[in-house]
Amino acid sequence: MLDWEELLETCKGCCKCDLGKTRTNMVFGRGNKDADILMIGEGPGEQEDLSGIPFVGAAGKLLETLLKAQMINEEQYYIANIVKCRPPRNRVPTEQEAERCLPYLRNQVYLIKPKIIVCLGGTAVKYVVDKNARITRIRGQWIERKGYWIMPTFHPAALLRDESKKVLMWKDFKKVKQRMDYLCQNQND
Ligand code: URA
Repeated sequence: MLDWEELLETCKGCCKCDLGKTRTNMVFGRGNKDADILMIGEGPGEQEDLSGIPFVGAAGKLLETLLKAQMINEEQYYIANIVKCRPPRNRVPTEQEAERCLPYLRNQVYLIKPKIIVCLGGTAVKYVVDKNARITRIRGQWIERKGYWIMPTFHPAALLRDESKKVLMWKDFKKVKQRMDYLCQNQND
């Protein structure tokens, strides 16, 4: 495994798939590297590609509102994506693109050592939980794996299309907040 700086430099120069040819910026992640929560999205959109920062567009703003409402503050999470470069026209990353990029995310998980991993949407669920898992079936239910608590929930962009999902995602983040508080209280027991 690489250390943080080595990993960042490697990702900046990565051309393991064609997304490396069309990106403006590689989008590594943002937030606290020692956070208890790691949130994983799909891949950078236009705003993220231009800025090099994940979740700065409309979906990111909505996510921020949800997190603030649950009193999960910026210090408490890190956020990254399954792929670090923007797929053209925001299409879903191909399996090959995701598989080539995933070792970088695994390296980030190893370094951050989060207690909780929140999968935002179907693509994150597919590569973190199970290739055949359906987000609508498994969202809101904790999965314990390799010492991590995984919470699958909707991608915030799905809420922009369908308001009715908001209340469900709200409930999911409430569970995240409760477990985070519980794990932090009991971490020295
Ligand atoms: N959607 C994602 O999945 N990731 C981003 O960084 C932005 C939008």
